[in-house]
Amino acid sequence: MAAQIIDGNVLAKRVQADVRGRVRALREAGRPVRLAALLVTRAPAGEIYAQRQAASCRELGIDYDLIKLPDESRFAEIAGEIDRLNEDPSVTGIMVHLPLPGGVEPTDVQHRIATVKDVEGVSPANIGYVIYGREVIVPCTALAAMELVRSTGYRLEGAEAVVVGASAIAGRPAALLLTQAGATVTVCHKMTRDLKSHTRRADVLVVAAGVPNLIAADHVREGAVVIDVGINRVTTLDGKTRTIGDVNFEDVQHKAAYLSPVPGGVGPMTVAVLLQNVVRSAELIAKRA
Ligand code: NAD
Repeated sequence: MAAQIIDGNVLAKRVQADVRGRVRALREAGRPVRLAALLVTRAPAGEIYAQRQAASCRELGIDYDLIKLPDESRFAEIAGEIDRLNEDPSVTGIMVHLPLPGGVEPTDVQHRIATVKDVEGVSPANIGYVIYGREVIVPCTALAAMELVRSTGYRLEGAEAVVVGASAIAGRPAALLLTQAGATVTVCHKMTRDLKSHTRRADVLVVAAGVPNLIAADHVREGAVVIDVGINRVTTLDGKTRTIGDVNFEDVQHKAAYLSPVPGGVGPMTVAVLLQNVVRSAELIAKRA
């Protein structure tokens, strides 16, 4: 039987509708909802992403400031800007577009963002709160993957979950969220011996490795929920580029019960979850005022 395809665009629209209502409520209470995004290097992809983000924010009633720093900025200048935004009461959320200039470590910059304004959920405090089950702002990509799993209605208590990929922004936080939800979680990574022996056990398989088509049908248990976080640009035989995931979609769709596509799965949901985090930050700040 063919898998049910998890439509990230449809789920993202639902999240956006919820965000719109919550932004309206904050506005009516006279509270600010403002995302400040720092753009330092001028990679075209970054500029396009920032423009799209500005449009999505405006559409939902969120104020958006794109702060462009010179290409050659050093850590001290970027950190100074973060400190200023942390102190600015009209700014409720802060994020940093990557890449940063050579020699500036992204985590050094991201970790400077005030916990409550860290809308990407990448600061050590926010990751730490996930460990304690007292989430403030949850890492976007992991939360998006989790929302896709939840949309299937699959019961996570006692389920076998396998996460392929152990990065700090995707795999590891996804594993934490699955553990929190009651699944028994195995985390696989580059050094895992015999990947298949783990993935085949999974009721829920979350793949965030950044390796095109890493997961084929024989890695997947019949009837599993498969969430593909990977985003890989590949050149096809006809010389065109296209975006594919870490899961071989054509192959796995005949084995899984639910499968998220790339594009159109975790990607749009991550964008929506970021906006959800923006409104959550603003609500937390409003509560503290
Ligand atoms: P990363 O390179 O930081 O981490 C990759 C992880 O996968 C590592 O833990 C590595 O050990 C593991 N890995 C690599 N090859 C493997 C293999 N052959 N077998 C098992 N494990 C292997 O990458 P990341 O930042 O976590 O991103 C992973 C993928 O997710 C990328 O394709 C990235 O573009 C994508 N991504 C998507 C979103 C989204 O919004 N959908 C957001 C972030 C990242």
